[in-house]
Amino acid sequence: MFCGHKLGLNYKRLDLNVPTLEEVSRVLREGLTPFFETVDVSVVDCPDLRQAPFHLAQRGLSGDEKVADIGGVPYLVPSVQRDKYYSLKDMASVLGMDESAFLIGAGAGPHREVGINCELMPNISFEDKQTKITNRTHIAKVDERGGCQLSIAKTTDFALLANLYASEGKPGKVLKVYVKKRIGSENFVTTLRQILNKHYGNRAVSLGGVFLLRGGSAKLHIMPDFSTTPLNSDQDVNNWLNFYSMDSPLICLSVFHSYDPDLDLRIEHTHCFSDHNQGGHYHYDNTPDTIEYEGYFNLAKQIYRIDAPIATHNIGRD
Ligand SMILES: [Zn+2]
Repeated sequence: MFCGHKLGLNYKRLDLNVPTLEEVSRVLREGLTPFFETVDVSVVDCPDLRQAPFHLAQRGLSGDEKVADIGGVPYLVPSVQRDKYYSLKDMASVLGMDESAFLIGAGAGPHREVGINCELMPNISFEDKQTKITNRTHIAKVDERGGCQLSIAKTTDFALLANLYASEGKPGKVLKVYVKKRIGSENFVTTLRQILNKHYGNRAVSLGGVFLLRGGSAKLHIMPDFSTTPLNSDQDVNNWLNFYSMDSPLICLSVFHSYDPDLDLRIEHTHCFSDHNQGGHYHYDNTPDTIEYEGYFNLAKQIYRIDAPIATHNIGRD
């Protein structure tokens, strides 16, 4: 474990013992069979993720692969710490990726820019030493009527917490996971995570990527503006959040770990956006009989834990 300090942020870096894509493909193919009626897992050349239906800021998921867990729920719960404000540009630098970086994942949106607390779907590429920025990051906020409003971020800022998959965005081999008709009880990401945990035990395997949710609907939440009263339990958090049933197709950006090597990680985090003004934090699909997931993932070589809360807890991590 390496401990560092950059741009005013403390961080820890852990180098991972990374299995091959072929091995993880085999583990997931066998492991997924009890949970979905149709399972197809393989190692493929990454499709061009800039194109429809993905709409990402870079073409692939390869080159200097890392995951980052920044801040945490303790900066939101029980009471918000408004000074916990970051930029994706700085995160690329802390990750040692000043030359080029492609960041995707899930976080809390820039409340100073948006005016209220909101959800962030980071999707941004920095090239040519951060002089060329392609920002396709989406923000979801609760509108005046309690509905969802999706927009494109105007800055590189975010707040409180984020889970990022970082790479140079190059083409390369990735894991393709296709499943249809859910027969298990857990959501798609939890199922993948638990299969890997069962196989790899306390050897952390960390993944990031994008998946499409098709053929049904899903339960998502959007954080409303900050609570004026302290949120002291999962029940308080759930009463405060706005939950929605959102329609497919959803484009979902996901980071997850098979195991937390004592870094106080958020073990899975997935945010979704769409071209129909819906998006937010993914919980699970509502339509197991018709649901279809098609995901492209890569394995991280390092975990960065950035600006971790000193006083931590497990409330609100679902
Ligand atoms: Zn979230």
